[in-house]
Amino acid sequence: MPAAAWAKWKVPPLAPAPPAPADKPVKLTKSGTVPVISSIPTQQKVVFVTIDDGEEKDPKFIEMMSDLKIPITMFLMDDAIKNNYDYFKPLQAAGNSIQNHTLHHPAMSTKSAAVQKTEVCGDQQVLTQKYGTAPFLFRPPYGDGANTPTLNSAVQQCGPRAVVLWHESMQIHDMQYQNADKKLRPGDIILAHFRGPKDLKGETMTEMFGELLSRIQEQGFSVARLDDYIQPPS
Ligand SMILES: [Zn+2]
Repeated sequence: MPAAAWAKWKVPPLAPAPPAPADKPVKLTKSGTVPVISSIPTQQKVVFVTIDDGEEKDPKFIEMMSDLKIPITMFLMDDAIKNNYDYFKPLQAAGNSIQNHTLHHPAMSTKSAAVQKTEVCGDQQVLTQKYGTAPFLFRPPYGDGANTPTLNSAVQQCGPRAVVLWHESMQIHDMQYQNADKKLRPGDIILAHFRGPKDLKGETMTEMFGELLSRIQEQGFSVARLDDYIQPPS
């Protein structure tokens, strides 16, 4: 990445991710219980960035990703994206996968089995139709219900083959860590959101994302592509 691209976005240059492992450390199965994942087993100093919902559609973020080529995984929720499905297409075309995050973003454990299934299958159908490829990962809103048999069954019936949670959550300037020492670990999955000034106390999506990358860079990590570490069922 040319130095000018990093300077343009005021982000310290991140080390490039190491080559993707030839043998993906997580392998998903075709059927049966789906695993719940919040980090990837790896010794490499890499983390994975996931971005949820889809409310904010800042054209500058597309430009930033086109300049910096940071791999991301998008968990999109239909209510947030239905006013502009096309916004996410250039991000997808750059190799970033689109994954399932329900139709309406409910706390799943408060809903019946039938409603949970509608939420997962409905988003699966919309995303498959709009983006031409079926999601193989699912993230429950708020992480709620992730470990319940009811949600696991709904996910199995709708197509995704893993439930993906996170280890760190990006706020406006800093991350919330689950580790007491507030440090990233190899393989951690980081949660961020498509959010803009209304939800970020005036900060833009690109400013927030620049801060996220700075937190990763200062701990000596690079960002790898989640899909390169998870083998979908063949
Ligand atoms: Zn969400």
